[in-house]
Amino acid sequence: MKMNIALLKGDGIGPEIINEAVKVLNAVGKKFGHTFEYTDLPIGGYAIDNYGLPLPDETVAGCKAADAVMLGAVGGPKWDAMPPEKRPEKGLLGIRKALSLYANLRPVKLFPPLAFASPIRADIRDKGIDLVIVRELTGGIYFGKKSESVSGGRAVALDECVYSEEEIDRLLKVGFELAGSRGKKICLVDKANVLKTSALWRKRFYEIGGNYPDIEKSVMLVDNAAMQLVRAPYAFDVIVTENMFGDILSDEAAVLTGSIGLIPSASLGEGGFGLYEPIHGSAPDIAGTGKANPVATILSAAMMTGTTFGLKAEAKAVENAVAAALTKYRTADVYTGAEKLVSTSEMGDAVAALLENN
Ligand code: NAD
Repeated sequence: MKMNIALLKGDGIGPEIINEAVKVLNAVGKKFGHTFEYTDLPIGGYAIDNYGLPLPDETVAGCKAADAVMLGAVGGPKWDAMPPEKRPEKGLLGIRKALSLYANLRPVKLFPPLAFASPIRADIRDKGIDLVIVRELTGGIYFGKKSESVSGGRAVALDECVYSEEEIDRLLKVGFELAGSRGKKICLVDKANVLKTSALWRKRFYEIGGNYPDIEKSVMLVDNAAMQLVRAPYAFDVIVTENMFGDILSDEAAVLTGSIGLIPSASLGEGGFGLYEPIHGSAPDIAGTGKANPVATILSAAMMTGTTFGLKAEAKAVENAVAAALTKYRTADVYTGAEKLVSTSEMGDAVAALLENN
């Protein structure tokens, strides 16, 4: 297979961690006989410095022409004083919009050797944490009409929450397909006891769910889900939910593993096209020191391989190599003293070598 990948390295540790993902992708290519070609495109602060804006047109065009996109991170103190419309983060929101990415996938998996970093009680976390939150990304209250007015001399603000059947159905399908490829369990998180939009989500969940008879379905109110994620995270496989609930729950779930440098994500559009990125930011405090953990980005590359390219065995091989590497090697953020302390690039070398030799 020959694939063209757009690389948006961005700022801070972005270039360092993307380079390690490329190293591991090249090892995948060598082992399994694929060719990955890369096109570097500017975004964020780097694009502001060199092109005068955070998302140049050539970046959008280059991403559209690619088979998939990998993003490092954007932002840093250098650009913090800029007006909001010119800040690096605008590039991030802009590219997600330009590529019509409507489904955000956040896998949360606790690697046993890193269990110590989890804030969850041992008897709970030892039952295993391996779930994915599928969040709707382009609709709901964040994108509804907004207004401010004055009533009786006091300010009033309004945020409208709108969902169409079409928006709900396409997200649910992503969730059901994913559950089918994993633990065959799906839970819709909503607030159907008070929200009309949630009632529509629930109706569509059961209707679409009829096409997936082998998948175990459940529904949960969002307030309960926030508690159950901490009380019994092992009980979840795939969670599907609307934009705002997903925003909040995916950050709560990320904390279950205890390390921000380990969690990948995917944002998917039509036809399986996707943008893959770690959930952390550009970590300007450690940029250039070789301390960045590249694992979240390497796992993002694995997600891309399995999801957009459909290369499941290759994706699993990367995950296994990461798990094996973590038993022996650690970057500073997850170092306990018992392993070999390695730099960003040494961690990439270790994963690539374990992948090629197993
Ligand atoms: P951050 O995620 O960059 O860093 C938070 C803390 O985690 C820091 O101490 C950092 O050193 C550490 N950290 C993050 N990633 C790490 C890794 N891979 N390995 C080891 N340690 C890691 O969040 P922040 O400090 O709030 O933001 C810094 C900049 O990143 C800001 O400009 C912010 O706007 C931007 N940001 C970008 C994205 C994105 O591009 N998707 C997301 C969040 C924040």
